[in-house]
Amino acid sequence: MSAAASSFRAAARLDRIKPSPSTAAAARVRALKAEGRRILDLTVGEPDFDTPEHVKQAAIAAIEAGETKYTAVNGTPRLREAIRGSLRRTHGIEYADAEITVGGGGKQVIFLALMATLDVGDEVLIPAPYWVSYPDMVRANDGTPVIVATSAEGGYKLTADALESAITARTTWVILNSPGNPSGAIYTEQELAALADVLRRHPAVSVLSDEIYSEISFTGAPAPSLAAVAPDLRHRVLVVSGVSKSYAMTGWRLGYAAGDPALIGAINTLQSQTSSCPSSISQAAAAAALEGPQDFIADSVPRYAERRDAAVAGIGAIDGLLPVVPDGAFYLYVDCAGIIGRTAPDGRILSDDQDVTLYLLDLAGVAVIQGSAYGQSPFFRISFATDLRTIAEAVEGIAEAVRALR
Ligand code: PMP
Repeated sequence: MSAAASSFRAAARLDRIKPSPSTAAAARVRALKAEGRRILDLTVGEPDFDTPEHVKQAAIAAIEAGETKYTAVNGTPRLREAIRGSLRRTHGIEYADAEITVGGGGKQVIFLALMATLDVGDEVLIPAPYWVSYPDMVRANDGTPVIVATSAEGGYKLTADALESAITARTTWVILNSPGNPSGAIYTEQELAALADVLRRHPAVSVLSDEIYSEISFTGAPAPSLAAVAPDLRHRVLVVSGVSKSYAMTGWRLGYAAGDPALIGAINTLQSQTSSCPSSISQAAAAAALEGPQDFIADSVPRYAERRDAAVAGIGAIDGLLPVVPDGAFYLYVDCAGIIGRTAPDGRILSDDQDVTLYLLDLAGVAVIQGSAYGQSPFFRISFATDLRTIAEAVEGIAEAVRALR
């Protein structure tokens, strides 16, 4: 029997978005590995560490205690309390219970926040380089992403002037991501205060503050939050975070948001009609992570810092490559303008960062992600959430590949 032809017809919304480029890179790496090639994979956006033991035990205990049913849409009271405690600890902000909600990862919470607020043509300001998902999440929810360029001199951060000139009557959100993926840039309190001055002149603009990497900071303190720096704007700032990165819990799918109770309520309404709530077991695990001992963060951040230093030193020594030194998160964004236009031994010309990425993969067996995915070229992103040995080998491979260029 022959298979029936598919009559699938996608909604117009699907034409506006594409699958995540990191997922595409992962597929290419898998294909090469299947051919038997050894690939050093520096594409992954997740910690290589295991979830802390006490967190796993909390999940097991939750299963055994029968915490295996739907929870409240906005999460268990215990988890909301743990989130409030975490925000108090890291930022000194006191949130009310009704100002907190949870979801299946920070990603889902951001998606629902956009769905809850965007109408056709509403604009969302996204400083580049940006996390790959923001523009497509905006498009999927009928909004218009407005990309705002940043500069090396400005540390790849949105300046007050750039914000002021990008705001229009349609601007609904500005997205701030600090520490940033892929730049690792952290906004200082002064920089946030300058942005707050602009925002005070534009009362219709809200800020989606993606703080998922806030505790993976090499400055000695968590990245500051606009909600704490400008308490008068707090109701206009949606703080989004989660346990994926800080506690090595990417697979548990648990994120959260804190902000205006009306917005939180709208997110809850959407959640009640989509997932109902995140996994009860993951909620118990996340509560344990947030309210339990914090030594996992204290132990892992210096290890990330050591890896960062190794990657920065190694890449910085390669002629033609310029690493952006990150203050947080676990990515190194590398300016590769110095090798664009050069010719590879097989005769191909590296005309953009996509070519550079493919060349590094083919010649050195090193997988990185092209800057075009993050809205800023020519760059590539290295993830240093991997061991020092892999980083050293990858740097050596990249150095050799770059030396082979004419
Ligand atoms: N924001 C940024 C900037 C990220 O890099 C990620 C994960 N790649 C997320 C949000 C979402 O993380 P999660 O859904 O696992 O909480």
